[in-house]
Amino acid sequence: MSVLVPPAVIGIVGGGQLGRMLAQVAQRHGYRVAVLTGGDERTPAGAVADIEIPAAFDDTAAVQRLVACADVITWELEDVDLHLAGVAATAGVPVRPRHQVLAAAADRAAEKRALQAAGVAVAPYREAAGPAELATAIAHLDGPLIVKTARSGYDGKGQVRLAADGSEPERTATAAEVFRRLGSVRLIVEREVPFDREVSVVVARSANGAVADHGVMENVHVDGILDTTTVPARLPEEVTAAARQIAARLARHLDVVGVLCTEMFVVGSELLVNEVAPRPHNSGHCTIEAAAVSQFEQQLRAVCGLPLGDGSCRPAAMTQLLGDLWAGGEPAWGEALSDPGIRLHLYGKRDPRPGRKMGHLTCVDATPELALKRVLAARERLAP
Ligand code: AMP
Repeated sequence: MSVLVPPAVIGIVGGGQLGRMLAQVAQRHGYRVAVLTGGDERTPAGAVADIEIPAAFDDTAAVQRLVACADVITWELEDVDLHLAGVAATAGVPVRPRHQVLAAAADRAAEKRALQAAGVAVAPYREAAGPAELATAIAHLDGPLIVKTARSGYDGKGQVRLAADGSEPERTATAAEVFRRLGSVRLIVEREVPFDREVSVVVARSANGAVADHGVMENVHVDGILDTTTVPARLPEEVTAAARQIAARLARHLDVVGVLCTEMFVVGSELLVNEVAPRPHNSGHCTIEAAAVSQFEQQLRAVCGLPLGDGSCRPAAMTQLLGDLWAGGEPAWGEALSDPGIRLHLYGKRDPRPGRKMGHLTCVDATPELALKRVLAARERLAP
């Protein structure tokens, strides 16, 4: 693979915060950045890019414009129209990671099949394309269940939980009702896993097969949205090693050139893979401060054919800042930063809606527990 050197143009598909942090690191290296936003103007990534293309992902003229100005194209989200990849191939512009990886990650049914083909364990599940299949799936999978839409689900959206004991209204609702409630689309039904912890591994992979990760992150979700990450995860050494091996195995199996995040449930000493995302991930935000080379820099290096850097992390914690923090007015930024070790990241979003990811705080300390205490205290001070 030929090496792309600055001032080559990195084309980013997606205008969100992940694209913004990639754009910022690319520009620090002397690259230029073009962003296809998906529609909006002044997006988090587009606002810092050299070129912002505020158009839909299936807008042919906009896609051609991105392909015409980019030397390589990468992604900051996976649920996008993939015809872009064909346009890029015709023009001879490399797309990294390849679009087949996105196709597998954007559809939970395709994802589960890919995970199983790679030989990793997943929660027991069934696919259901209609109410009758859903009823069969619910009957076959005993215990508490989660029904998820195959596509367009994130942060716990597009999900219905079915309790095991039949006392929940969902359990007694007919499969037809659940099917309708989720929008009458293809679904998967999976067993709810009684996990001890949720963890993730972000691994970068080069075209030559080299891999580098940041260790194992420990994640806590609130209402389906990532709330805090601490690194390293509190796991026995052999479980840490196994989690890293699973992540590397999946990156290899999917032939990722770029970055892959694998989210896993820890149940005793067993690891079940929940999902993969072929891009940097929320849970890797703390790598900006905790590692010599962050997940965004690894993505840049991998897609440009540069050597991967040292991703190993010092103990750190991250907490997400959601739009809810703005309920009482502008958060007290100075109060949060009264602890000199706290680092603030805001994504430049203008409309702080509840549940919307507006930014995050990071802290590096002697242990992940100390770092977590400090980021949580800082967040508390933002909106007392
Ligand atoms: P997802 O959209 O699949 O990432 O789910 C969001 C969050 O819901 C996960 O991070 C878990 O906290 C929870 N969750 C999803 N699937 C399961 C499951 N099978 N068992 C237990 N918790 C789950």
